[in-house]
Amino acid sequence: MIKEVKGMKDIVAPEANSWEELRGIASRIFSSFSYDLIITPILEKQELFSRSVGEDTDVVTKEMYTFIDRSGEKLALRPEGTASIMRAYFSNFDSRSKVLKAWYWGPMFRHEKPQKGRYRQFFQFGLEAVGTDSPYIDSELIYVLDSFYKHIGIKDFEIEINSIGCKNCRPKYKNELVTFLRNNKSKLCETCAKRIEKNPLRVLDCKNDVCQKVIINAPKIKNYICDNCSSHYRKVLFSLNDLNIEYKENPYLVRGLDYYVKTVFEFVSKDLDGRQNALGGGGRYDELSSSLGEKTNVPAVGYAGGIERMFLVLENKNLDTYKKIYIAFLDEETREKYVNFIIKLKNFFAFSDKKVQIIDEGYKVLNAKKHLSKADKLVCSYAIIAGKEELKKSELVLKDLYKRKEEKIKIDIKNLDKTFSKILGGIVFE
Ligand SMILES: [Zn+2]
Ligand SMILES: [Zn+2]
Repeated sequence: MIKEVKGMKDIVAPEANSWEELRGIASRIFSSFSYDLIITPILEKQELFSRSVGEDTDVVTKEMYTFIDRSGEKLALRPEGTASIMRAYFSNFDSRSKVLKAWYWGPMFRHEKPQKGRYRQFFQFGLEAVGTDSPYIDSELIYVLDSFYKHIGIKDFEIEINSIGCKNCRPKYKNELVTFLRNNKSKLCETCAKRIEKNPLRVLDCKNDVCQKVIINAPKIKNYICDNCSSHYRKVLFSLNDLNIEYKENPYLVRGLDYYVKTVFEFVSKDLDGRQNALGGGGRYDELSSSLGEKTNVPAVGYAGGIERMFLVLENKNLDTYKKIYIAFLDEETREKYVNFIIKLKNFFAFSDKKVQIIDEGYKVLNAKKHLSKADKLVCSYAIIAGKEELKKSELVLKDLYKRKEEKIKIDIKNLDKTFSKILGGIVFE
């Protein structure tokens, strides 16, 4: 059989059902904070990412999936979500004064070395607020993420926050930092030694121990930011304090990309190790629109979180809330007579307010013992059993597989809904 592409994987039940459940929770919470779902194409023009993420970043030079399509356009599979949202803002809204609050959930693509929990097609969810520089949108964003992660059962995380200034105040800091790093060049790891001239802020991000020892003595950006940035940052922190959000100021937290300004933050899990310990990161990108060719900057703030990582640290990984009922036909004749009843029962459950899934395994006829062992393997809570005896009396057996209790249910042909309700009534939902 043809194998899947290296670094890509199928997500199947029950995990896929848990993903769907999480997506539903995300949708409900994010919508309440007035973020609307946005679905942007997975394919974009290459230029969108080379101009936003940056021409000489690893993502663009080494990791992005790019190709020329049949009409000669240079395209890319999106490596991240933010640039697409900014593009979509300009593609869809006439009024440049509109605030777009959008959330997304979908696959991203990077040709990296596959590792545990890291795939070449990986999933991210994100929230983006475009068209506002309000510090209260920054704090609200952190608040809603805190609420979301806690609600789904991730408790052991820390929020790290910093301000990285703007294009007016950062150059001064960059100069100081470069001077400091040049003086310590010999103590840095190989990658960081190269980063000094090209992307000095990224050195602060290095998790290598040797670099960490240097970084703790590096100048702190906080002492260099302008009044405007400083007042914005104070308002974010004040608001977070008032909202009772615990956070840790990390003076060396930066984002890899140049368009980030002012607030940057990360949700860091204590259960994820080493370099990949962030559940996700975010920040202001007030300067992104101008790097995409707009004359004026449209202020914006956003966050992107990894979905595979989120699953790695989830305590209860099975969020599939469907009650599973196994259907066991014991002979051909009973199956012929009952199978449409079961199909209609599925439809009844689909429109009830309870989540029930009937596992049919292709409506195979087997003996009771084989059926029940299958039901057990498929983690079903109940079984509907029907054989000759039941057919004769026009009834079926509803068996609670945990309590080993069973109940006979009479089928009322003239009022099927009544029979369906009876079956539903026999199921215990905790
Ligand atoms: Zn500034
Ligand atoms: Zn380093």
